[in-house]
Amino acid sequence: MLTMPPFAVVRPRSVDEAVDALAQGGRLVAGGTDLVPNLKRGLLDPKRLVSLRRVAALRGVHTEEGGALVVGAGTTLVDLAADTRVRETWSALARAAEVVASPPIRNVATLGGNVCLDTRCAYYDQTDFWRGALGHCLKTCGDVCHVVPSGKRCVAAFSADTPPVLIAYGATATLVSARGSRTVPVAELYVADGARHLALDPDELLTEVRVPRPGPGARAAYVKVRSRAAIDFPALSIALVLARAGDGAVSDVSVVVGALGAKPRVVDGLAAIAAGRPLDEATIGAIAERARAACHPLGNIDIDADWRRAVLAVQVRRALATLGA
Ligand SMILES: Cc1cc2nc3c(=O)[nH]c(=O)nc-3n(C[C@H](O)[C@H](O)[C@H](O)COP(=O)(O)OP(=O)(O)OC[C@H]3O[C@@H](n4cnc5c(N)ncnc54)[C@H](O)[C@@H]3O)c2cc1C
Ligand code: SF4
Repeated sequence: MLTMPPFAVVRPRSVDEAVDALAQGGRLVAGGTDLVPNLKRGLLDPKRLVSLRRVAALRGVHTEEGGALVVGAGTTLVDLAADTRVRETWSALARAAEVVASPPIRNVATLGGNVCLDTRCAYYDQTDFWRGALGHCLKTCGDVCHVVPSGKRCVAAFSADTPPVLIAYGATATLVSARGSRTVPVAELYVADGARHLALDPDELLTEVRVPRPGPGARAAYVKVRSRAAIDFPALSIALVLARAGDGAVSDVSVVVGALGAKPRVVDGLAAIAAGRPLDEATIGAIAERARAACHPLGNIDIDADWRRAVLAVQVRRALATLGA
């Protein structure tokens, strides 16, 4: 049986109290659906947890006058996915939230915890005993990566469902600490090192995510490839936002892919191959091929990397065909 290590818990009631508590050291816990299993596996050993459960100001969804969506970091995924405004205007975000894990988990799991989720790896999400048998790895206390043995950086997969969609919509995140607050694009929250993949400082709290209203006629999709539809992390997660001009030609397209390495991959070079063109088979095929060329799944999860790369192109093609229909 896996047991919890000993730790103290502080329960602030406001954002100010939370950042003050965090400034004194400790680790944030929101729904705890990822953190707690990781504590049990001995992946973390914080002496103090700062619980966000009682910070009511972090919960809720509203729209601003300019039309942007603002989601508090403490909003549960079930509430996010059920929100009528989100379902109507940011449908890909609702879709990503409603396919995380399972209903009991989504009832307590938060958007903030999803955005700040730890990276995952078949050699990491294991007990201390299991990891110790291999001599540990770069993400814990070892000196080798079992996925890329010649590599110098951890390539564990960032497998959260909502961030690829948030990035494709051009969302920003508000980070607050005792030193002040700053707003950064969600795309810049992540760095390509699975051992330290968040660009947040340890004393920073994510308070909310702001998602611009998609332009008129824009359509979006979220595709999650996974082994079991009932409950599973993505083997691939693909967010697409497509905008078209009045004549039907592509005016903009974003494709963001997760569950590859430590940060979501924004597929670049799409404007050059798609902008101003009709969304026909040739354009769809070119976008799918560009996504395949830009994305390199690794052996960091227990699903074949070559298969994932082949499936990626197929899923991008199908999603674009549906969006264009
Ligand atoms: C069986 C199982 C299946 C799962 N399947 C999926 C899946 O399919 N897709 C998926 O995306 N996830 C999955 N998860 C992981 C997890 O449930 C979700 O990602 C969830 O959204 C995490 O939110 P939480 O509030 O529980 O985060 P927590 O576990 O409380 O925290 C996660 C991390 O975020 C940090 N954090 C939390 N809130 C903040 C904040 N406001 N500011 C800064 N840091 C913060 C914590 O310190 C911690 O490091 C699964 C988990 C389990 C146990
Ligand atoms: S990718 Fe390599 S370093 Fe990172 S957790 Fe996996 S085995 Fe460890």
